Amino acid sequence: MPTVAASDPIQFGEPGPIALSAPRLRRSRAGVVSWRDHHVTVGGGAPVRVQSMTNTDTADAIGTAIQVKELALAGSELVRITVNNDEAAQAVPHIREQLDRMGIHVPLIGDFHYNGHRLLTDHPACAEALSKYRINPGNVGRGDKGDRQFAQMVEIAARHDKAIRIGVNWGSLDQDLLARLMDDNARRAEPWDARQVMYEALITSALDSARRAEEIGLNPNNITLSCKVSGVQDLIAVYQELALRTDHVLHLGLTEAGMGVKGTVASAAALAVLLQQGIGDTIRVSLTPQPGEARTQEVVVASEILQALGLRTFVPSVTACPGCGRTTSTTFQELAKQIDDFLRASMPVWRARYPGVENMKVAVMGCIVNGPGESKHADIGISLPGTGEAPAAPVFIDGQKAMTLRGETIAVEFQQIVENYIQKRFGAPA
Ligand code: SF4
Repeated sequence: MPTVAASDPIQFGEPGPIALSAPRLRRSRAGVVSWRDHHVTVGGGAPVRVQSMTNTDTADAIGTAIQVKELALAGSELVRITVNNDEAAQAVPHIREQLDRMGIHVPLIGDFHYNGHRLLTDHPACAEALSKYRINPGNVGRGDKGDRQFAQMVEIAARHDKAIRIGVNWGSLDQDLLARLMDDNARRAEPWDARQVMYEALITSALDSARRAEEIGLNPNNITLSCKVSGVQDLIAVYQELALRTDHVLHLGLTEAGMGVKGTVASAAALAVLLQQGIGDTIRVSLTPQPGEARTQEVVVASEILQALGLRTFVPSVTACPGCGRTTSTTFQELAKQIDDFLRASMPVWRARYPGVENMKVAVMGCIVNGPGESKHADIGISLPGTGEAPAAPVFIDGQKAMTLRGETIAVEFQQIVENYIQKRFGAPA
């Protein structure tokens, strides 16, 4: 591709049809993460999967099962739980049992560090109840001992026909490997930047571990790789290179993304670039919950990233204008939020009852400037009266003005209209 210097004048050509923007497809090998008859295909052209992780004490089987259920109902297709000690390992089969009893078949991933080899050996029921083991090569021990402990975990996975994720993290990178690559770098005629050596160490750690797991006997389709860092540009650089060197399933996410807006924006910025390039088969948004915030927020953000990119649809989308000087009340903000909350809360039931409802588009607009136009583009939309406009709110259904709402009960009436529309359009014929 020709390079363009910043000083080069922009070349304007004859206008032609503008290329349609679409995410590229990187075809990784397909893996399946299963719990009994419930199978989640990851990679190989399957939809990019949403993952999440609990923050309960895993030894609290009931509390953890409840949170896993909440995450699953919010749309998480795989849920990871910490398995850090004997109490946690003992609780895992009970968590699985509780979930099965509640009809929640989401596969569980056990997150192991330092003592995973021992916990999986001492607690075979835990090894069986989990569908996948996350192994951090930087935390399995050093030297020969580390190799033996890594092999022990992989052998258990192979014996139980479980998947593994080799989850490298820059915060716990294999220090011996990093030191060796640093030494190699010092001998180069033109040494790399220290960050480039770190990137190489992350990727080498993941690829070497995958090769060893395959040599031990694990089916390559059962191996997922991740190389998590907390910087957006670092993540993009590492995964672009990783994707060139392997066809294994890739799990994507910024580690320690942070809280609230910062964590959400950083995750969206990094993941969007990579997903657009076809990189990433499963994602997690590692948000630090704000005080009082539900753990499910990380699932909401992950789903919204995929939906915004047009890769998947999870919930009907609500288009709302930002408001401006033409709106002096907060009515439309409140209505947009009410509708959004209502659609999101109803989805666990609607998903089964109204197939296709997730593709619906709803518009809630603040005034006549863009309101009617935007509402006509949606499946169902309402244009609220702006300042100085007649106190009437036209409702548009399938592009046609269907009715006008007035008075104090606009919000309630519109919600009912939306529900009726969903029943009529997406419900099974009587
Ligand atoms: S639709 Fe009306 S209220 Fe909303 S941003 Fe545009 S001009 Fe402002």
